[in-house]
Amino acid sequence: MSWNFEEITLTAQNEIQSASDLKTLEDLRIKYLGRKGLLAEIYAGLSQLSVEEKPLVGKGANILRNTVTALIEQKYKDLEEKEKSQSSAKQIIDVTLPGVGVSMGHEHVLNQIVDEICEVFEALGFVIHEGPEVETEFNNFTALNIPIDHPSRDAFDTFYLETPDPERPGRYFLLRSHTSPGQIRVMEKFQPPLAVVIPGKVYRPDAVDASHSFMFHQIEGLLIDKDIQFSHLKGLLSAFCKRFFGEKIQMRFRPHFFPFTEPSAEVDISCYICDGKGCSVCGRKGWLEIMGCGMVHPKVFEAVKYPKGKYTGLAFGMGVERMAMLRYGIDDIRMFYENDVRFLRQL
Ligand SMILES: [Zn+2]
Repeated sequence: MSWNFEEITLTAQNEIQSASDLKTLEDLRIKYLGRKGLLAEIYAGLSQLSVEEKPLVGKGANILRNTVTALIEQKYKDLEEKEKSQSSAKQIIDVTLPGVGVSMGHEHVLNQIVDEICEVFEALGFVIHEGPEVETEFNNFTALNIPIDHPSRDAFDTFYLETPDPERPGRYFLLRSHTSPGQIRVMEKFQPPLAVVIPGKVYRPDAVDASHSFMFHQIEGLLIDKDIQFSHLKGLLSAFCKRFFGEKIQMRFRPHFFPFTEPSAEVDISCYICDGKGCSVCGRKGWLEIMGCGMVHPKVFEAVKYPKGKYTGLAFGMGVERMAMLRYGIDDIRMFYENDVRFLRQL
């Protein structure tokens, strides 16, 4: 039997080249190189050949075996590479696809307002001081000229702790009902001149409704020096109102009573929604109440042991929620605390 090695090589080459997967290639290996494969058949036939033919066919078979082995080895590498890259391609992240957005969030509107108010007063030379939310009864009431039997305590007599005040027998710590005890702490620690703003949470025994909360935020201001007068208070607060609510805003003082200031006043601004004509936000009055203020009561100086008659001072305080409600037209204080992102993301 004679073999056309040239043709067999060509066929094998074509078959191996066109093998599209490892299984087909393995079948081809068996076909040519297997125990019952073509080459085994050729070698088996050698013994029947003549002395002249034997070396020629043997040489041709060896070349064929080497060629086919090399072709299959190369193809095996190629196919393996291809399968590897295909399976890893499945795991590759397509960076051109639009991603799932992660919402960053932002500062709560109440903190924004606190920062903004503090910044206005910082620009006017005030420094920020933060007092504790748990206060002594002395700082929260007595030192602020609200003695134990004073009727104005009733509205604020608030959340008491079971911890007694070690310095004042029979008195207990409580959650502060206003930021004003912060004034006492500053005055006990520092001598005038001083100018501080005190932001923070306060607690009152109020039932929660659209305009009340048992907890809310205040900002308190205090300026003490020699010869501080009511005109300083008016100038300071009118500068603040214009900065916070806009240049067009009008401001007025209404006489009022606070135990820790004398004289005392409440501050109104002209309603920026109706320009003072009267609307539902200002209750048809044309004015919006924004804060309380006054000249520091001599009894307060006495409580912190400042020399009698040496200093005068001014103080003011405002509710942060009220400022935010006025500015953004929010009509329910509970919105601030419910953490509803549909509300928060608007501000
Ligand atoms: Zn109005």
